[in-house]
Amino acid sequence: VTGDRHTCVLCGGRDSEFVVTGYDRMQAREQDYRCVRCTGCGLLSLDPTPTPAEVAGLYPPDYQTRIAGPPRNFEKPINRLAVRYLYGVGSVGRSRWLRALFRGLSGRILAGIRERHGANRLLDVGCGSGQLLAAYRTLGWQVCGIEMSAEGCAVCAEKRLEVHHGTIFDAPFAAQRFDVILLSHVIEHMLDPVAVLTRAAAFLAPRGMIVVTTPNVRGVGFLVFGSCWFGLDPPRHVFLFDPHTIVLLAQRAGLTPMRVVTAASPRILCESRHYARTQGRQLPTALAHRQALLRESARRWKPYKIYRDVMSPLTLVLALCGRGDILEAELRAV
Ligand SMILES: [Zn+2]
Repeated sequence: VTGDRHTCVLCGGRDSEFVVTGYDRMQAREQDYRCVRCTGCGLLSLDPTPTPAEVAGLYPPDYQTRIAGPPRNFEKPINRLAVRYLYGVGSVGRSRWLRALFRGLSGRILAGIRERHGANRLLDVGCGSGQLLAAYRTLGWQVCGIEMSAEGCAVCAEKRLEVHHGTIFDAPFAAQRFDVILLSHVIEHMLDPVAVLTRAAAFLAPRGMIVVTTPNVRGVGFLVFGSCWFGLDPPRHVFLFDPHTIVLLAQRAGLTPMRVVTAASPRILCESRHYARTQGRQLPTALAHRQALLRESARRWKPYKIYRDVMSPLTLVLALCGRGDILEAELRAV
């Protein structure tokens, strides 16, 4: 129990218990990171949480490409059909059966793409290099983004995407402008997730929807891999949620959770296993040893495709049981 050094952003509780020691496994650092769980609500967080000044220096130059994973292929015939019948703004597929069929068939590649909603105006908070925005634009949506990295914004500008370079707090978009707002792998990085979600809610049109995607600390990956779990990623991930705490977060921001599910992620399991095999649960103490270990680890080949194909059925079952490594919450304003 750490006492009053640490006040929970969700429940205001002051007591927490130690969970695991985490390490920056992308960029060797001298520090180790204490991950603690609030005894009041169960929120997992770093203790101490980084200061705003510290956060800026936490991202390696190739961070975007490391977390983005393999690109999706929208050009496959099955995906073109799925787009036409299900996802496209002008799509004509009305049959519920057809929609269910295509959602199932296209799930692996188009996972993360939402069905059309309202007037199809989308805001992607933390849009990176605009891969997802460009995909939605292809489907006929009006798209905008917010991105903090200058590199990401430059790529978005090349794609002629409307992206605000800055934070959600200084973004100039009009209130109630968007039908769907995505916060995909964003909220776990924020020092004040309640304030970020409250601000996002102000941009939401009536009947609009906020979709929060974030690692699920209650998933099987953290259970199995502990400090090697890819979703842990300290010190960049400040808060880690589960199906209970994501609901609390939504309520604190004045939003209503409509649907909270977990999704399978063979990729997270693959990356976690890679950390476990090439780095081990505990990193060596000396910085030079850490640097050598991480360099060697980055060089080693990851059997991602094999892993995905072998693990897919298993992770699908886990996801249905609420033990998937990704948490997805659909939130409404009412
Ligand atoms: Zn709490």
